[in-house]
Amino acid sequence: MIAPKPFLKGVSHFVLLGVLFLGSGFAVDADLSASQGNSVVRGTLVCIGKESKEVPCIGKGSAWALKAANGQIYLLKSDKLAETLIEEKRLRSKDFQLTLRKSGDSDSHEIVKSQFFRDGKLYDFYYFCDVCNITIHTSGLCMCCRQETEYHEKLAE
Ligand SMILES: [Zn+2]
Repeated sequence: MIAPKPFLKGVSHFVLLGVLFLGSGFAVDADLSASQGNSVVRGTLVCIGKESKEVPCIGKGSAWALKAANGQIYLLKSDKLAETLIEEKRLRSKDFQLTLRKSGDSDSHEIVKSQFFRDGKLYDFYYFCDVCNITIHTSGLCMCCRQETEYHEKLAE
């Protein structure tokens, strides 16, 4: 009565592999949307404390990470790009889509591109300096002239 379901069988094998290799980096490399070793991951920002446990984002001593819907944790390198996601209130969202690149030999990931979802729509955001006529991807003063920059967002194509 039960017909073979090769497709479903394939999927369960894939999930099993993903679970077995979770944390070893295999699951990241297997990301189908990845290109040139980059992974595109949608998730929320969390803080990771000692023993790789999720902790409240207060005080120092914790690292930032992106937590994907499947629970996988992608540690983020603590740079201005990561800081911008935490500090920029105008994003009005905690639902991010980040393009990540493995940072050297460490367990953390560099942010290549930051986008966010609001009301189910994907947005790009950036800062613009009128004086220098340049686009910047981190909040704060312009890196060239130290003037205030202007926040912009637009629907991703
Ligand atoms: Zn400038």
